[in-house]
Amino acid sequence: MSHLRLGDRIHLVSYKDRRYTLVLRAGGIFQFSGETLAHDDLIGKPEGMTVRTSRGTHFIALRPTLAEYVVKMPRGAQVIYPKDLGLILMWADIYPGAKVLEAGIGSGALTMALLRSVGEKGSVISYEVRDDFAKRAQENIDQFMGPVPNLVVRMKNIYEGIEDGPVDRLVLDLPEPWQVVPHAVTALRPGGVFLCLLPTVPQVQQVVAALQAEKGFGFIETFETLLRTWNIDGRSVRPDHRMVAHSAFLTVARRIVPEAE
Ligand code: SAH
Repeated sequence: MSHLRLGDRIHLVSYKDRRYTLVLRAGGIFQFSGETLAHDDLIGKPEGMTVRTSRGTHFIALRPTLAEYVVKMPRGAQVIYPKDLGLILMWADIYPGAKVLEAGIGSGALTMALLRSVGEKGSVISYEVRDDFAKRAQENIDQFMGPVPNLVVRMKNIYEGIEDGPVDRLVLDLPEPWQVVPHAVTALRPGGVFLCLLPTVPQVQQVVAALQAEKGFGFIETFETLLRTWNIDGRSVRPDHRMVAHSAFLTVARRIVPEAE
């Protein structure tokens, strides 16, 4: 796995941190402003190695991390950014072997993070209403992960119901998750986790009100994360000037069994 193989999607990273994506093919040639590099010079070599083009320009050959891949892959819908993907995995408590339902699939960024965390013994079921997004997401996932037999994509409107219960975890990235709350009560197993991402405060208020109105949910929490990168260069040690100030709020709730149930 540490050596580059035929068919791998890799990044060639220049010293200026410019990235060029290529898929390694036998006999393939990478062209870069008049310079060339044979794919065969990369195949079988260790990942992370420095290579030179025909005119001596240096590149480092790396497989993209999932975080790098999701921000570069072709998009149908807006993807969830790595800072939130990391948080979701912990707060929705995604574990190896879990059965996770998500909606919608969008571009497949969250789907891949979930698939990695549930592992081969777990499964991810993804509801989506748009054919074009489902197709794009599946292509993105295939490019990065290869075939994933434990992913099921259903062309279904989750507001109309859930037919795949009981599930361990429910993760929602769509505009009106409060419409899912009544179905979530029956689809989530007791002790299961409900998580949704929303960009605006009125949406958060509405989903929290819906969760509070259902006796089957407790421990409702809402939070956001701000990721601030730093410049560390000699004596210039300070936060970077630019950052993403807002992406989404996360609301989490636990499926509980009230006394009367
Ligand atoms: N989490 C995804 C992005 C999801 S964007 C990613 O990381 O790539 C929101 C998606 O939800 C869109 O693809 C949209 O078509 C889908 N969607 C919206 N309403 C839906 C519904 N009621 N049921 C299923 N999918 C829905």
